[in-house]
Amino acid sequence: MEVKTIDDVDVAGKRVLVRADLNVPLKEGRVADETRIVATLPTIRKLVGDGARVIICSHLGRPKGEVRPELSLGPVAAVLSEKLGRDAAFVETCVGPAAEKAANRLADGDVLVLENTRFWAGETENDHSFAKGLAALADVFVDDAFGTAHRKHASNYGVAELVKPAVAGYLLTKEIQYFDRLLEDPPRPLVFVLGGAKLSTKLAVVTNMLGTVDHFLIGGGMAYTFLKAQGYDVGSSLVEDDFLADAKKVLDEAGEKVELPGDHVVARALDEPASARAVDCASIPEGYVGADIGSETIQRFTAGTVDAGAIFWNGPMGVFEVPAFADGTEAVARAIAESGAVTVAGGGETVQAARQFGVADRLSHISTGGGASLKYLEGKPLAAIEVLSR
Ligand code: ADP
Ligand code: MG
Repeated sequence: MEVKTIDDVDVAGKRVLVRADLNVPLKEGRVADETRIVATLPTIRKLVGDGARVIICSHLGRPKGEVRPELSLGPVAAVLSEKLGRDAAFVETCVGPAAEKAANRLADGDVLVLENTRFWAGETENDHSFAKGLAALADVFVDDAFGTAHRKHASNYGVAELVKPAVAGYLLTKEIQYFDRLLEDPPRPLVFVLGGAKLSTKLAVVTNMLGTVDHFLIGGGMAYTFLKAQGYDVGSSLVEDDFLADAKKVLDEAGEKVELPGDHVVARALDEPASARAVDCASIPEGYVGADIGSETIQRFTAGTVDAGAIFWNGPMGVFEVPAFADGTEAVARAIAESGAVTVAGGGETVQAARQFGVADRLSHISTGGGASLKYLEGKPLAAIEVLSR
């Protein structure tokens, strides 16, 4: 997808509204993980360096159109100031006279953070007058929020229709580049390692990428719907019966491309690790649930990453949060990191697993948008990116 970036526009002396993704996890009123703040710093630094008057907006959590003081962006603005090494002012609103006054008071290179956009119901409704309120603050619009790029909201879509130029920041650009590479011209073989909970959330990615991907390695909960579709016993494993027919169709079309677990770690229930045992065949006995891939599958899947040119990883291979069911995810995560391939990981729990097993720093790209990355790989245009390319 062709979009203009902050390198293509002149921002000196201009009021530049940046839609960042500062939706960070909070714990007792403090920022618990700074990843998303750090990820958008290159964009902010570049704009500051070029003498723009930078106005940053973002959502945080799900306040559902109400002011929820515990979800204020104030503490996030403080962390941003610290990281930037310069004072970022904070204003307790997003639109209206107070916001306009704060924006108009900025000098070249100053930074202002607005309050949580989702304190206004108009944000998620892509309400025109709310978008207009945001647009009134800016001469240039920069979208740097990949995590919400699949949503048509006022702060990433409505405002981009109103403020011209509207361009992508460095983080958004980097995300697009990595995913376009997987979609269009991947180093081969291209391997998709998929897992996690439900097949229904990832089936469209498999379907869309069937012609492009050389090899799918599928574990996690989603594997059991495929195994059941092939006629194996799955015990009381996570299965989506409504998707059995789709799973069967994918397997028929994919042939040898899709690899599934051939053995498992099972347990009486996912919260009963003491009952864990290995099962050395694809079928799962009655009264047990599949909780992790088994040792033969670990060997086969890790071997499948060795020669890869590019790997996309979304979804843990098992219930990695429980140590008894974490071996598959850990082994596969390490193999991905050590493969030497271009490696891209996305998904909330996937990124958490990559960190937990110490491989996050060794992946080429960790996407900041789980849902957005899946939607992109489904072949669907992301609304907020599409509006920038117009
Ligand atoms: P991501 O957030 O990376 O996209 P998902 O949300 O799809 O991943 O799934 C993550 C969850 O899947 C993890 O919390 C993990 O415990 C769960 N999971 C993995 N394997 C299984 C399994 N065999 N049965 C049930 N849940 C599983
Ligand atoms: Mg998840």
